[in-house]
Amino acid sequence: MLRNMTSEPEQQIGVGTQDAFQRLWTPHRMAYIQGENKPSGPGADDGCPFCTIPAKSDEDGLVVARGERVYAVLNLYPYNGGHLMVVPFRHVADYTELDGAETAELAEFTKRAMTALRTASGAHGFNIGMNQGGVAGAGIAAHLHQHVVPRWGGDTNFMPVVAHTKVLPQLLADTRAMLAAAWAA
Ligand SMILES: [Zn+2]
Repeated sequence: MLRNMTSEPEQQIGVGTQDAFQRLWTPHRMAYIQGENKPSGPGADDGCPFCTIPAKSDEDGLVVARGERVYAVLNLYPYNGGHLMVVPFRHVADYTELDGAETAELAEFTKRAMTALRTASGAHGFNIGMNQGGVAGAGIAAHLHQHVVPRWGGDTNFMPVVAHTKVLPQLLADTRAMLAAAWAA
């Protein structure tokens, strides 16, 4: 059963600096997807991971779902289990650069990601958002991506550990398969 967020204030879920929302917006803790392949420049041809992932299989790229204009992918360095990102196929940096159809599908995929995470894992709540620009903490500033981070009551204590631990590939593969199945359901 989903917890009524209004009955459990934020202060009770995350205590002080341990709250995940601060991590989400803190530059030096920003998660990189496939950090070793970080783009060295702003161009799509410069090894941008968000441009290369769609060419991989779902399994290899950890892709959970593909739309016409955006896709959903697991973060290799999650803040929490099931940390997804919704990414436009087109290499654009700024949210204002999205056209109408991309904006609509990004919003729709964000909702579907929440539903899939609730179905697969019973998430109690979410942190959702974008870091726009390097100064705002975007790990890969050249290609925008919307974070969808599931939260559970009481998850705060293990999150700092999770954030600093490279998740086992098999765990990510299992998570991807679970979420892909939940997405399709
Ligand atoms: Zn790109």
